[in-house]
Amino acid sequence: MLIIDSLHAEIDGKKILNGLSLTVNAGEVHAIMGPNGAGKSTLAYVLGGRPGYEVTGGSVTFAGQDLLAMEPHERAAVGLFLGFQYPVEIPGVSNVQFLREALNAQRIQRGEEPLTGGEFLKLAKEKAALLRMDMEMLKRQVNVGFSGGEKKRAEMVQMGILNPSLAILDETDSGLDIDALRVVGEGINAIMRAPDKAVVLITHYQRLLDYVKPDQVHILAKGRIVKSGGPELALELEREGYDEVMA
Ligand code: ADP
Ligand code: MG
Ligand code: MG
Repeated sequence: MLIIDSLHAEIDGKKILNGLSLTVNAGEVHAIMGPNGAGKSTLAYVLGGRPGYEVTGGSVTFAGQDLLAMEPHERAAVGLFLGFQYPVEIPGVSNVQFLREALNAQRIQRGEEPLTGGEFLKLAKEKAALLRMDMEMLKRQVNVGFSGGEKKRAEMVQMGILNPSLAILDETDSGLDIDALRVVGEGINAIMRAPDKAVVLITHYQRLLDYVKPDQVHILAKGRIVKSGGPELALELEREGYDEVMA
């Protein structure tokens, strides 16, 4: 599904990714862990096509296509979803309006019919229920006045509605209390655990991985994957710290 081969990228002339390679197959969950400043968020931004991130080498193939040649909205339309650590607030726009616009823009890009208001509300209700959100909440302005946990749940509702084939989730667990962590973890499983889908979870902590079991765990340091293993690698990191495990 995703083949990243020797990716190099920089911001403002500063090299951040240094030959990063990673292959993610359909049906798999991969966790990426690593110290602060390692380049984890940069990887997510580069895959999403955020302006200012310059790719200076390597390639990324997504569903058989050259991801780096696509515009950000084209990447989303072919099934890439990015979840961010700090979801933005959009005053004056309700979640329902925002989500319907986002979904229909993608459908039109793919040559599909946009959903009607009624069809959309039915879908939104179903996905909101997975994240234990009521529709009243989705009628409020995007993220305005939402708690950290509510923002993350709203973002997972968005993921459910857009129904991506690959989700890259950057520290989706940060700022969540134990109950919200479980709801978000179960939501990720309900939405993304399927033979034709895959997830890359970027996280500092093992605790999210108790809910969303990774097939592989990778350590990203200094802009590349320096070690890969099974779920036990995350436990080892939690116990011993990066310095020990990477030594
Ligand atoms: P992580 O998510 O692993 O904590 P980041 O990808 O956010 O790391 O950052 C990797 C490195 O890139 C850090 O050293 C950070 O300071 C640097 N960096 C991030 N954004 C910029 C920027 N706009 N200009 C210069 N350096 C940046
Ligand atoms: Mg960080
Ligand atoms: Mg980060």
